[in-house]
Amino acid sequence: MKDKLKILVVGSGGREFAVARALKKSPHVAEVFCAPGNSGMAAIGVKATGIAEDDFKALKDFAIKEDIAWTFVGPEDALVAGIVDYFHAFDLKIFGPNARAAQLEGSKDYALQFMEKYQVPHPRYETFQSAETAISALPDFGLPVVLKEDGLAGGKGVVIAEDQETAESTLTEMFAKGQKQVVLEEFLTGPEYSVFAVMQGGNYRLLPLAQDHKRAYDGDKGPNTGGMGSYSPVPQLSQAEYQEIVDQLVEPTAKGLLAGGYDYHGVLYLGLMMTKQGPKMIEYNVRLGDPETEVVLPRLKSDFAELVAACVNDEEMPAVEEKDEAVLGVILAAEGYPKKPLKGQKLGQLPAEDGIFVDCANVTGPATDLVGSGGRILMVRAEAADLKEAQEHVYAYLAKLDIPQTFYRRDIGYRATGKRF
Ligand code: AMP
Repeated sequence: MKDKLKILVVGSGGREFAVARALKKSPHVAEVFCAPGNSGMAAIGVKATGIAEDDFKALKDFAIKEDIAWTFVGPEDALVAGIVDYFHAFDLKIFGPNARAAQLEGSKDYALQFMEKYQVPHPRYETFQSAETAISALPDFGLPVVLKEDGLAGGKGVVIAEDQETAESTLTEMFAKGQKQVVLEEFLTGPEYSVFAVMQGGNYRLLPLAQDHKRAYDGDKGPNTGGMGSYSPVPQLSQAEYQEIVDQLVEPTAKGLLAGGYDYHGVLYLGLMMTKQGPKMIEYNVRLGDPETEVVLPRLKSDFAELVAACVNDEEMPAVEEKDEAVLGVILAAEGYPKKPLKGQKLGQLPAEDGIFVDCANVTGPATDLVGSGGRILMVRAEAADLKEAQEHVYAYLAKLDIPQTFYRRDIGYRATGKRF
């Protein structure tokens, strides 16, 4: 691998913070820029360029001017909008699927059709173009029923309706606000896991396993969010179950990408549920998860930049080595998130502590005087010998912070440790 690379990361959240930090650690990497980036990134030596993630022309100009070796795309919107195709048209290297492959996340219906075609186990589903037809099909699905907006919705377009009235009103609302298609899905139960594969055509390398917590409040209550905390490894999943996931979900997906002629050089995220009937796909995402990335990448013993470089350069990808240490992170979110997050929380300079890392997501202002700017503000993360220790350390640190108009879940990791705080 060529040395002293300059790399551009597209995006601005906690995920991009973690990606930039992981790349920066590599001895092969000289400089990491982030577009637009956030003001917390200065603390890890990453330059926030301020270029908007949907301004493909400005991003391309920057990549040429700065002699960027390759660009790493964090968020799905840019991928679905075709940033990879755009960069390729200028002969620039970029890590992420092209627009066609990105439909696996851009459209729930497209993804389910892919699963059906390539025999990846998935929930029973049907897609509708009007509220009336969807409502009339509700009896076929029973209750609860899962209602999914077809297009991108930042993890918030999924409603689990427990009763007929909610199902009907949600469907009416989804179409009234402009959705063209809504998918009804059979409600599945079981623990959820996130598997990340760095895909290179039909070849792949798996990153450490993580578990996310999607609901806003303790005990998995409240609305779905982008994710409120995460941890890795996931000890409650046995090696045999993990192998089932690889054999039944990852393998047929990789074969499908190859057979379907997809241009896929990037991360594929498999969100799945371990049901009594075996693992079932819940969704594909065409990029790393946020906040799982913040706990997955710190667990890599091997060099993340080498892996990505090999992937984009179509060279054989090196093996992924995991550290023994555990990582657990809890999101500090703005009060009101995800529905109506407040802004303007004064964070000041957060106290430094051994074993604790703060990944900034939605922050503005100078690095010494950060201000929350809505949504998920930051993640407090601990690395420790095991998950129990990491969980205790994160919550002890959070208890010392007193930031008005914020909240966090007090049970991140409970499935692994049995403890809540
Ligand atoms: P998605 O955006 O498709 O991942 O859905 C968001 C969340 O909704 C998932 O992480 C699950 O917690 C839940 N969910 C989605 N589909 C189903 C399903 N078929 N059965 C039960 N829960 C689901």
